[in-house]
Amino acid sequence: MKVYAMVGIGKADWVEKPKPKCGPLDALVRPLVLAPCSSDTHTIKGVLGVLQDRGLGHEGTGIVDEVGELVKDFKPGDRVIIPAITPDWLSEEAQDGWQQHTHGMLGGYKFTTQKDGVFSEFIHINEADGNLAHLPEGVDPEVGAMLSDMTPTGFHGAELANVRFGDDVAVIGIGPVGLMAVQGAVLRGAGRIFAVGSRPNCVEIAKEFGATHIIDYHNGDIDKQILDLTDGKGVDRVILAGGNQETFTQSIKIMKPGGTLGNINYFDSLEPLKIPMLEWGMGMGHKDIRGGLMPGGRERMRRLANMVVAGRINPGRLVTHRYEGFDKIPEAVQVMSDKPKDLIKPVVICEW
Ligand code: NDP
Ligand code: ZN
Repeated sequence: MKVYAMVGIGKADWVEKPKPKCGPLDALVRPLVLAPCSSDTHTIKGVLGVLQDRGLGHEGTGIVDEVGELVKDFKPGDRVIIPAITPDWLSEEAQDGWQQHTHGMLGGYKFTTQKDGVFSEFIHINEADGNLAHLPEGVDPEVGAMLSDMTPTGFHGAELANVRFGDDVAVIGIGPVGLMAVQGAVLRGAGRIFAVGSRPNCVEIAKEFGATHIIDYHNGDIDKQILDLTDGKGVDRVILAGGNQETFTQSIKIMKPGGTLGNINYFDSLEPLKIPMLEWGMGMGHKDIRGGLMPGGRERMRRLANMVVAGRINPGRLVTHRYEGFDKIPEAVQVMSDKPKDLIKPVVICEW
């Protein structure tokens, strides 16, 4: 089968591989709609080292092609959402509530890091009954693909930051992940939402999703801008979904004592992050710093899809670029790394 893979630092290309084996609990899925992620571009850059010939991609929807003999709830022909995170549900970490970190830190993130990703003609899903979710009737597979990673990650930012009714929230970064964090914060009852970003179509959707203030980081330090807008007090919660090491430091500066930072950003450098001591109360400011990988799991994915069915969220708004045909994956990945101003999220619509 054809797999679009990392073939060196800064390089990706097609490689030919045998079709994966379907274990008794597993499934093989043919892709319907695939979406490159900014994390794929970090990977190609070499953040995880050289993963020679390892298939890229972890977002998409598909059609079940084959299931193992112990799979109960999926059968060939079912249309499914493929979550970016596919834990080992029998592991001690999953049983302890940390499904993202099964068999070691970030161990639930298997696509590309441990096995070929979804940019494959046949996608291997471990523990299909635990990790796949049915794509509900009437939900476009393109919208379903935004439930693989963008929606659960953005929403996890709102969970990590523990957004409460009426909280003032800063969402730093309004790419596709940050935009879903804005929507997640609204659904959890945020008061004002200060959204940081500059791309015009992201700004437009941030407002549509419920941001009350837009901060452009090109117009000066975001900590100063947000402190000015909050009479020097800062915000209750920060969701960090973009920026760099410096942005992390700024996030601590804009939090009130008792505030919580929910980081979902993937820092693509090994440089340590700096905590500004004065603004952290010399260690006594009760400012929580949390960061995490999105949770997967069929039941959570079912609930997210249910929000689409109920009309509560429309993650399909993120899709700006469409490519027809599985062989267009390289173009979609390229546009993700070029990041033209009008890009939010590209998708590849596969036909078989
Ligand atoms: P994008 O690159 O599309 O968006 C980044 C956002 O950050 C943009 O709004 C950008 O502004 C803004 N930004 C850039 N530089 C700064 C700065 N110096 N200060 C403030 N804001 C800045 O990323 P995605 O939305 O695709 O992903 C966001 C992050 O989430 C990535 O690091 C990604 O790897 C990570 N991620 C994490 C996952 C998890 O499970 N934790 C899963 C998936 C992704 P502008 O509008 O100007 O472009
Ligand atoms: Zn992703």
